[in-house]
Order: sequence, then C-alpha cells, then structure tokens
Amino acid sequence: MASNIHFLMIPLMCPGHLIPMVDMAKLIAQHSATVTIVITPRNAARFGAVLHRAVASGHPIRILELQFPASEYGLPEGCESVDDLPTFNLSKNFFDASAKLQEPLEEVFNDLKPRPSCIISDKHLSWTSDVARKFQIPWVIFDGMSCFSQLATHNLCVSKIHERVGEIDPFVLPGLPDKITMTKSQLPGLFNTGKSAKEKEMISVREKIRATELGAYGVVMNTFEDLEKRYIDEYRKVKKRVWCIGPLSQSNKNDLDKAQRGTNGSITNHDSITWLDGQQPGSVVYACLGSLTRLTPPHFIELALGLEQSESPFILVVKGGNRTEEIEKWLAENGFEKRVKGRGVLIHGWVPQVLILSHPSIGAFLTHCGWNSTIEGVCAGVPMITWPQFAEQFFNERVAVDVVGSGVGVGAESVMHLGEEDGAEVQVKREDVCKAVKRVMDEGIEGKVRREKAVYFREMAEKALEEGGSSQVNLKLFIEDIIVHMNKGLAG
Ligand code: UDP
Repeated sequence: MASNIHFLMIPLMCPGHLIPMVDMAKLIAQHSATVTIVITPRNAARFGAVLHRAVASGHPIRILELQFPASEYGLPEGCESVDDLPTFNLSKNFFDASAKLQEPLEEVFNDLKPRPSCIISDKHLSWTSDVARKFQIPWVIFDGMSCFSQLATHNLCVSKIHERVGEIDPFVLPGLPDKITMTKSQLPGLFNTGKSAKEKEMISVREKIRATELGAYGVVMNTFEDLEKRYIDEYRKVKKRVWCIGPLSQSNKNDLDKAQRGTNGSITNHDSITWLDGQQPGSVVYACLGSLTRLTPPHFIELALGLEQSESPFILVVKGGNRTEEIEKWLAENGFEKRVKGRGVLIHGWVPQVLILSHPSIGAFLTHCGWNSTIEGVCAGVPMITWPQFAEQFFNERVAVDVVGSGVGVGAESVMHLGEEDGAEVQVKREDVCKAVKRVMDEGIEGKVRREKAVYFREMAEKALEEGGSSQVNLKLFIEDIIVHMNKGLAG
C-alpha cells in the first residue's frame, strides 16, 4: 500500500484500551502504513518490548513519548495508567491529565513525517477530535466495545426507555436483532450513574464523550463479522463507516508476544503454564476479572470458595487493589491455599492472559466480560462463565450468553461502579459460582452444545484475520479509504 500513509494513534492509557491499540498498530503496520503511537514514558517501558520487536521485524511503527502531567492533577508521581490509580475516585483527574497531552502533541505534529493522514484515537479522548480538526485530517475512533454495545447504546439514547423503567424491572432492549432483556441497574454509566459524588462528576465526562464520538469520520472495532453479523449490519445503518478488524489479540502469533501483552516481563515460562502442562485437556477453569476490577474481600471469598466447591481445577487471579492485604490474610488464615494445593493455582498481579487462554488444558473462562476478555475467550474456543462488573460488561455478557451461546452467567444483578466497591452488597454467592462452573464443565448435552459453539466461533475468529478473511479485508478497506481521503486532500 501507499508508503506515505501515516496513522497517528492516540490510546487511552488503560490496559483494556492500550493493549488492543498496540495490537492494532502492529496489524496496520503490516500493510506498510506508518504508525506513530502516542504514549507516556512508563507505558513506553511497559509496552516497549512488544513494540520494539515489531519494529525490529521491519514494521514501520514509531513511538512518540509525551510526559504525563500526573502530579499536576493530584495523581501520584508515575501514575500513567488507569490500573495504577490508587482509587478510581481519581478517574476524572486521570481524564483531565490525559487531555493535557493535546498541547505538546500539537506542538510536534508538523514535525511528524510523513504528515499524519488520520488520527485513530480512543473514543474516550474527546480532545483528539480538536487535533484532527485543527490539522484537517479524519478523526477515526477506536471503540473498545462490540457492535452489540454500540447499537444498544444508540438505541437507548434514542428511545430513552431506561428513563421510564424501575432500577430492577426487566425490559427488552429496543431495536436489537434478538430479544434481549436487561434491567436499568445493569446498564453502563451513561444510563445508570453510580451513587457517589465522584461518579456524578463523571456524568459530564461521559456525555461529552458520547456527543463527540457521534462526529467521528468512522470507527474501527475489535470485533469480526461472523461473531455478531446482525448487530454489525444494524450498527452500519447508524454509523456510515464501521470497520470491524478484530479479534486484535490474534495479531500475537508467538508465545513471547502473547506473554508480553500488557507487560514487559518475559513470562513464557510462567509457573501457571508449567502447572497447566500437567493438567487434563479442557479441565481447568481460568478465573480473571480483568485489569481494573478490584473484588473486595467478601466478594473475593465467595469467588474463591465457589471455585473450591466446584471441584474443578482452576487458576484464580488475585487483584485486590488497596485491600490486597486483607485478601492475603484471609487466604493465609482460612487455609484455602493448603486445601486446594495441586488443584488450584493463585496468581497475584498481572497474568499472561492470552497465553494462558491458548493452553489446551483450559476448559472454561470465568470472566468479568470486559470486551477484550470476552473476545479473547471467543478466540480461545472455551465456554465462558460470566460475572460482569462495570461499564458495558452486562451487554458483553449478553453477547457471550445469548449471541455466541457459549456463556453461563453467575447471576450478577447490577453494575458495580468503579470506586463504589467497598460496602457493596455481595450479589454473587459461592453456590452461584459453583453452580455456574458445574453447568459449564458438564459432560451432558447442554455443556456439549456450548463447547461446540465455542469451538465454532474460535474457528471463525481464526479465519477473520487470515488472507481474505473479513477482518483482513475490512482493514484493507479502512486503509484504502484513508488513502483516498488523503489523496483528495492533496489534490484540493
Ligand atoms: N489482561 C492481562 N493480564 C491481566 C489482566 C488483564 O493480560 O492480569 C489483559 C486482558 O487479556 C485484556 C485486557 O488486559 O486484553 C483487559 O481488558 P478487558 O476489556 O477485558 O477488561 P478491563 O481490564 O478493561 O476491565
């Protein structure tokens, strides 16, 4: 493709947003398009290994490092990623600090060669639309969500049905290809704001994001046609240019790339992998609730005891945030680790998720339904046990359970807004976790059908990014569209 095409990528610095953007940078650069990714020093270190390896293999990727003004916004020095926040009550400060990258970016824009032809920005960074306007290039948003979520969000904004229902009254989401029932308390923050003052502060941020994203030239999505075809088709009636180019995690072909997704550690020989090598194929439940969820000790205890009761082998990832010590204390005093020794593995901190999920011993994925995790579960070809927590994760649960048909819910009833976890009612009990695991691991007909569906969608996911696959074609169409746009601009 044209050698003078140049994409300026501006991610939100949060693992669930930055990781897929890095994957996308690698995929775009494989088409000989130059990519510059804007990143802060600590994230450059965290993601450097993967990026430098892509550069070394001849891909035209550049890193533009900008200083992050953490302390100016009341954030701890060195806090450059949402998962570094000591408390999610500082989320707005983080967004405000991110917006300060606009000025230094504009100062260096004209030095970038060739001149950027397009900005691909996380949709949460509304200010990037001003940069695109100023330099008269298309503003394409990366939407870390599914087309299901986008369509449901659009239809709720239009119908406003959520304003006419009670918190826990089930209603059918309007205008979707399937009959999907949810409650207001399960909807994302745009329709269902949390109770805390800090959550209320986010209302204006969310409304601005929503208003600005409607003006985007187009949107690239981490999904693929065969996964949610009818939702993609419907969403294309709402938004003209929708390029579905996922699953982005599939850009990581070797174990080192899989292991270093989101970390600079070299962990292909992670202990958990060695342990998985000794387990039966399809037998292990992998339980990880993403990069941001901080289960409080009472919630964590239910999850841990539920896994224990299920009698399946498991990997449980522990991320307790500022209450980690309490969780560790419980683990030590309760004798949990001793009881599950050999059958259960606890991992504290960051795990090489895509590497673990690709292991043949994994039989199910207990997930919080972040969109990345959901689509990574699809790629792994294993059924999912769904425990949505916040944001649009209840929408993603419906994708796993109703659209893909490989998921079983643990019975979570309402969003756990980030920063409001302490003191929140324990909605999911150990019996619920145990029951969902048993249903998913069941050898009967229902379990078999779910596993078959999971395998079918894994095969579709693999095809999507192969030569001639839908996502590969969509990516080419996206790049060609920007080339045409760029050439028109030059002619004008
Ligand atoms: N992830 C990982 N190791 C971890 C936690 C998360 O590799 O210990 C990755 C995971 O594979 C996914 C991303 O981080 O790509 C999390 O994104 P997701 O949308 O699933 O959830 P979020 O963390 O944004 O809630």
